[in-house]
Amino acid sequence: MKALLPGATIGIIGGGQLARMMTFEARRMGYRVSVLSPDRHAPSVSLADHWVEGELDDVEAAQRLAELSDVVTVDTEHVPASMLARLEGLVLVRPSASVLRTVQDRRVQRSFLDEVRVAQPRWSPVHDLEELEAAASKVGFPCVLKRAHAGYDGKGQRIISEASQLAEAWDSIAGGPAIVEEFVRFDCEVSVLLARNPAGEVRFYPLAHNTHRNHVLRTTVAPAPVGGEVAQDGFELAATIANALDHIGMMAVEMYLVGGKTLLVNEIAPRPHNSGHYTFSACITSQFEQHVRAVSGLPLGDPSLPRPAAMVNLFGDLWEHGEPDWSQVLSQPEARLHLYDKADARPGRKMGHILVIDEDSERALATCEAVMARLEAAADEEHEA
Ligand code: AMP
Repeated sequence: MKALLPGATIGIIGGGQLARMMTFEARRMGYRVSVLSPDRHAPSVSLADHWVEGELDDVEAAQRLAELSDVVTVDTEHVPASMLARLEGLVLVRPSASVLRTVQDRRVQRSFLDEVRVAQPRWSPVHDLEELEAAASKVGFPCVLKRAHAGYDGKGQRIISEASQLAEAWDSIAGGPAIVEEFVRFDCEVSVLLARNPAGEVRFYPLAHNTHRNHVLRTTVAPAPVGGEVAQDGFELAATIANALDHIGMMAVEMYLVGGKTLLVNEIAPRPHNSGHYTFSACITSQFEQHVRAVSGLPLGDPSLPRPAAMVNLFGDLWEHGEPDWSQVLSQPEARLHLYDKADARPGRKMGHILVIDEDSERALATCEAVMARLEAAADEEHEA
């Protein structure tokens, strides 16, 4: 099949910051973009050529998007796979409905990882309290209970330290299907980002080192300070997954590093990922351009990272006393500000990020943290004034 060239229209289901950055890159390259979102003020809508109003599970709206588009992609894996399967009769859909079906239910995703013999935490599916009790004694304490569907960034998750907490934990995730997995005492968390196109070409970004706060990504440093063998293992694991899924597009595989050399897969995101935001400015080809290339059937771009980079997320908490004082970021020549144009700055909501590129990755992270500290101090001063 021929590649879609500039002038073609890329349809995106979901209008968040991932769609926004995809839209920037797609439009820079001369593609047109249509976006399905319920919200006229969603981050990508003002940048797109067409806005299709509708919820992300609205089949009729998705069909309208398909009519406007040459290929349809997603900015979240929480789009019903059955809806994507229907679109596949109308338009190219990348990633496919089958990829989404595998990753959007944690039980299916973990079974798939077992099938392709990728190392992961010990786990077990659970459907009621009795099963949870049996599963927890199998995987051991502490363990983590996770809802099977629509859980991300720590939502629908509960750490269980001992048997007496099981019933309360089960109630807290509201009962539905779930998994329980061992609590991993990792050295650090890393992610492998790769792109795969319809010809099966695969390109990797350097391993990224991620830190979380309250289960949500806060910082990324790339390249991760891990040895060449660990990085190679990470690439192989991620390629095994992407090839077995016949995935097309960007993919992030989040992993735990244990005992200095073993990688266990935490989860798969079949799309651009927060831990790859640094690629937008720091790499020759950003993850967003790479996704556009992959879903358009183009050869992939050069993912190399000429100089180390660090990223820190900006959460809505920073807006508690009004708009942050951006001069604290913009006065630092090596810092780059990315804002997602979200009007409603709720605590914990991802509003933007700061990126620093430096010869030295530790110094890049230190600069990010120093800029964050200045932003927070300025917000406190504003509040006290
Ligand atoms: P998730 O939404 O499953 O990616 O979880 C978000 C974050 O919670 C992970 O990146 C880890 O920092 C932490 N976490 C989740 N599951 C586990 C686990 N089994 N062991 C240790 N930490 C975990």
